[in-house]
Amino acid sequence: MLIDILYCGICHSDIHTARNEWGGTTYPIVPGHEIVGKVAKVGASVKRFQVGETVGVGCFVGSCRACDACKEGLESYCERGVVGTYNGRDKDGGVTQGGYSDTIVVDQDFVLKIPAKLDPARAAPLLCAGITTYSPLRHWKVGQGQKVGIVGLGGLGHMALKFAHSFGARTVQFTTSPGKVEDAKRLGADDVILSTDPAQMERHAGTFDFILDTVSATHDLNALLRMLKRDGHLVLVGAPPEPTGIVAFNLIMKRRSIAGSLVGGVKETQEMLDYCAEHGIHADVEKIPIQKVNEAYERTLKADVKYRFVIDMSSLG
Ligand code: NAP
Ligand code: ZN
Ligand code: ZN
Repeated sequence: MLIDILYCGICHSDIHTARNEWGGTTYPIVPGHEIVGKVAKVGASVKRFQVGETVGVGCFVGSCRACDACKEGLESYCERGVVGTYNGRDKDGGVTQGGYSDTIVVDQDFVLKIPAKLDPARAAPLLCAGITTYSPLRHWKVGQGQKVGIVGLGGLGHMALKFAHSFGARTVQFTTSPGKVEDAKRLGADDVILSTDPAQMERHAGTFDFILDTVSATHDLNALLRMLKRDGHLVLVGAPPEPTGIVAFNLIMKRRSIAGSLVGGVKETQEMLDYCAEHGIHADVEKIPIQKVNEAYERTLKADVKYRFVIDMSSLG
């Protein structure tokens, strides 16, 4: 399917990749995997989509379709390697290029339907920030009767906060930014912890069932583990380039566990989009012309974004 791109969100993964912070970037690279656009043309075997329809593309554009993960609809965990929307190995042996662009060609099986109720610009971040937080909250069955923490109030964090609140959990936002405390409450937090204040951390120690960590830079995971009660889970979706040390006793003493999660499959992404349409959930975005991308990267690195930059592709001219 040929898609005319309307909007593309700026994910912190774009910055990690553009700057080769994780290693393995092949230049030149066009980042962008929070894509919303309109179908411009379809191939002969495309039956589910029509020209003019509003569609989305997320973090990957291909997988083997035959391994156990793919058969279960968990394409991001494809055992033969999922094909990233950018910096991935394309069918023809080349490198895939992402959504900071006017058009993209994607296999129909990796294209999502954007429900009419969702505003296209505010839906774009759902394709990565949305599904990456929705999927672990669902997998670990977060909901009513639980105390849930979200660490970092950025693109992923603000979606995690909205979902956890919507699923009925008592939701607490951890932030390093005093200026975001009021906003966190507006976005659905029952309480906010300034994680730089040891007294506030101490007050909540040992009380959480589940914590989702969206932080993009190295930080103290031991301090977060100590916030969990017995059998609690700390799940990482943030992907800092540097390793962090875990003190074994922080896991052993209360049988706590630590895990990670990678995006979410195609079927679950559609389920998440439909859930958002039904419940009026969307990203809080700052629309920018593509000429401001470098400025947006710098502001994202300073945790100064409310809460996702989205490129308006009409500016590409
Ligand atoms: P973002 O918008 O930049 O948000 C990250 C937030 O982390 C910041 O707003 C800030 O929140 C907090 N933070 C930043 N530096 C910190 C530090 N040194 N110590 C403590 N907190 C800090 O980034 P994003 O787009 O949400 O992405 C977050 C991470 O998830 C990135 O590493 C990205 O690559 C990764 N990611 C993973 C997946 C996956 O599938 N697992 C998918 C997408 C993205 P406060 O101001 O509230 O402290
Ligand atoms: Zn992303
Ligand atoms: Zn596979």
